[in-house]
Amino acid sequence: MIPKRSTTWRRLSEETFDLLVIGGGITGCGVIRDAVRRGLKVALIEANDIASGTSSRSSKLIHGGLRYLEQREFGLVFEAVNERQVLMRIAPHLVTAQGFLFPVYDTSRHGLGLLKLGLWVYEALSMFRSPKLHQNLGLRQVRQVEPLLSDEGLKGAPLYYDCATDDARLTLETMLDAVGAGALVLNHARVESLLRDEGGTICGVQVHDQLAGESTEVRARVVVNATGPWTDRVRSMSGTFNPLLRPTKGIHIVVDYERLPLAHAVVCTHPEDGRVLFAVPWGDRAYIGTTDTDFEGDPTCVAATTEDVDYLLEACRHYFPEPRLAREDVLATWAGLRPLIQDTDANTESSVSREHEVMVGVDGLLTIAGGKLTTYRVMAQEVVEKALELLVKQHACPGDLVDPCTHQEPLPGAVGWPADGDINGIAERVSSAAGPGLSAESALHLAVRYGTRGIDIGESLGEQEARMERLVEGRPEVMGIVDWAVTQELACTLEDVMVRRTQLFFRDVDQGLGAAPRIADRMADLLGWSLERRDQEVLSYEEEVQRSRQWRTD
Ligand code: FAD
Repeated sequence: MIPKRSTTWRRLSEETFDLLVIGGGITGCGVIRDAVRRGLKVALIEANDIASGTSSRSSKLIHGGLRYLEQREFGLVFEAVNERQVLMRIAPHLVTAQGFLFPVYDTSRHGLGLLKLGLWVYEALSMFRSPKLHQNLGLRQVRQVEPLLSDEGLKGAPLYYDCATDDARLTLETMLDAVGAGALVLNHARVESLLRDEGGTICGVQVHDQLAGESTEVRARVVVNATGPWTDRVRSMSGTFNPLLRPTKGIHIVVDYERLPLAHAVVCTHPEDGRVLFAVPWGDRAYIGTTDTDFEGDPTCVAATTEDVDYLLEACRHYFPEPRLAREDVLATWAGLRPLIQDTDANTESSVSREHEVMVGVDGLLTIAGGKLTTYRVMAQEVVEKALELLVKQHACPGDLVDPCTHQEPLPGAVGWPADGDINGIAERVSSAAGPGLSAESALHLAVRYGTRGIDIGESLGEQEARMERLVEGRPEVMGIVDWAVTQELACTLEDVMVRRTQLFFRDVDQGLGAAPRIADRMADLLGWSLERRDQEVLSYEEEVQRSRQWRTD
């Protein structure tokens, strides 16, 4: 049960926490899940929405990163492929096997032999527990399974397996699990400064509630900076001005699946600079990414440019000449910043290491930076272990801490997950819970997106027609998801619902603009918004869509 926002605010102002995390991306949510499951008293403050930063803007892959083998980052790959296994266990509804076809041409930088060797090493590092072992497809097989792929100069294509995920939901469910175990979470509240005790050690933060316009102080024994691309901004609050990060921007474009009907994800290298790109089937859509360019501006304002979009389209036309994808095919874009740690040895953006670092400032601020979505759980574990050392030094470590078992305990949508992983069986249970008004398509959508929690959503529809109404004609999302998002998943603004809870922003042909006013009306009823606030929400959402489309007019 999610506490009311007013209750969270009061408790934050009144109580003292063992651990306070700044930043509600996958890293921060992973830290609170680990810490609260050990028995620590934990809070998290997020300036915008949960997963609104990089954690909803990734390539949505849970992978070891085959390309990191070339950079000899064996440790990173080993950790990542093993985490892939853990995440498939604790979130089978969100981390699913995905085949990757890696075509090799006579112009490719690496030949088939080297790639096959690389795949053996990749699978060996996971102790041969990949979702499936790789196969080597010959020319004829490639033409059969992926007919759109250019076969000019094609020599063959290994097919290997990693995982696909829903990054925003993985983050949300990690947060929800922590809240279920007792963590306090406040989104849309910015940490504006750090509080210090008489000795100069950080002992809390000053928080501003962006929705209510109020401020308060929150006291904590250890404060963790888990702000991804904003890491240096928060470090500067503690008087540390030498930058730690080298943030790089990556964008993706979304097209209709019918325009790029791929049977597998396809890995290719850009014909211009050899960068590795992915084209990934995504239900009724497909997406292509990513770019990798240095970024120095405000992380909040990151967006795709025309140059970025054209760069990806050029690669698409090279590898998939038949659909001749053009700017008009791009339904949506997203852009994110990799919070990479500066690496003096790196010549190019793509060669900057993806490793993470945990460090403690002289004033006690604990910072975690770098890393990947895939390795968030082990990063979180390391942060909490460091925090425990700090608590012990303060003689403030609570007794009776337990093993958090984050590698075994399922995320909320995986509780009661069937051993055979039969998603159709779950969809049937969603249907029975919802009653006859819910279409089979919407029931399946709830099962796929929410796992076993889809059954709870089905029940919450209460056989009410209004809740079963589709948000967009011809799409599976129903109005009850909006109620669920607001009452059970901390959605506070229209953008929270449109972008990260329903994904209409990415998947609908008009990015949900047509549905936004009706969804805002429902949110106004649920949250008691004034007419003025409701109109402002619609306007802000329209502006967000415009930002994602600004590349069209650059
Ligand atoms: P974020 O998700 O950015 O979270 C930081 C949060 O801090 C934000 O929500 C922000 O609002 C909040 N914040 C900032 N300042 C404050 C403040 N003052 N007060 C309160 N809150 C604050 N990894 C993979 O494993 N697989 C992939 O396929 C993959 N693809 C990627 C593709 C791209 C293009 C990019 C950019 C990254 C990709 N990554 C991938 C890396 C992965 O997405 C990131 O490492 C991860 O999401 C970072 O999460 P985070 O929690 O550290 O940062």
